[in-house]
Amino acid sequence: SRKIQPSAEALISGILQSDKTALSRAITLIESANPDHMDKANAVINGCLPYANRSIRIGITGVPGVGKSTFIEAFGTYLTGLGKKVAVLAVDPSSTLSHGSILGDKTRMEELVKNDHAYIRPSASGEALGGVARKTREAVILCEAAGFEIVIIETVGVGQSETAVHSMTDFFLLLKISGAGDELQGIKRGIMEMADAIVINKADGDNIKRAQLAKTEFGRALHLFPAKDSGWQPTVSTCSAAERQGIAEVWNTILKYLDLTKQNGFFDKKRADQNHYWMMETIERQLKAQFYNRPGMTALLESMKKAVANGEISPFAAAGRLLGEER
Ligand code: GDP
Repeated sequence: SRKIQPSAEALISGILQSDKTALSRAITLIESANPDHMDKANAVINGCLPYANRSIRIGITGVPGVGKSTFIEAFGTYLTGLGKKVAVLAVDPSSTLSHGSILGDKTRMEELVKNDHAYIRPSASGEALGGVARKTREAVILCEAAGFEIVIIETVGVGQSETAVHSMTDFFLLLKISGAGDELQGIKRGIMEMADAIVINKADGDNIKRAQLAKTEFGRALHLFPAKDSGWQPTVSTCSAAERQGIAEVWNTILKYLDLTKQNGFFDKKRADQNHYWMMETIERQLKAQFYNRPGMTALLESMKKAVANGEISPFAAAGRLLGEER
């Protein structure tokens, strides 16, 4: 693979100089399924780590069609207008389940793609969600080392991916539209509980009244949830991503959140918890991979499954044998 030819040192120095080509190549390297690339990927991550941890990480979720890409285009453009450098990463569970991808299509944010101060990276595909999520977590480190001050992680609100994105972001934004019941929008209660802000998009034209109504309803619903550890009371607002209304309010809300949580210590605590989570998550994944990748494991596993099914061996003894324990 010619694309990942540069040395780890070259990639690191490119990233630190904010070179998007180097950044893209390095992300391709960490996404690579080739075990030979792992050492180099780790070297790049380690080289970037001292420069990481500096951005504000914002998770954005919402069902397909709610206007995520339109919103991120408007929000990202607003932020670059403030002089910020913005990276957008995607965690797309659909791309792991099929070849189709709900997110990650570069043409979705035409203006931002062309923006010098923005970097857009579509979702890694071809791996289980856990793998994609971990790689996105690592890509955040590289983006931060490349000087991106705001990292937006986008995901589709239809599955497990929100939890993964929540576990790697500082602020979690749920995008909604009015006019559809919560069930119709396919949003689980758990996702609402994760949200630091609910933003009702498409508040324009005939839809303004309905959006206002939805805002009141969501505001009421949010007050029924238990208080958050952050001490933050989640907000509800309306916006029109298409008409670029209500975008600055979202940013101001995030600034207030940062003020509060940096003062009360929650911001650092959450990041520490997240680092712990990703360490444990990585250990579990690698232990499993080591186990299943042992020579002859597939055949041995099959034969043990049969033996257990036939009552020839207890499930515990079978597991012990597979794990290599002497019994
Ligand atoms: P995504 O699937 O969540 O990324 O949604 P998109 O950003 O692709 O938007 C889905 C559709 O909604 C597109 O046709 C957009 O033009 C439209 N849309 C997005 N934001 C707005 C908005 O603020 N107002 C209106 N009226 N339409 C919008």
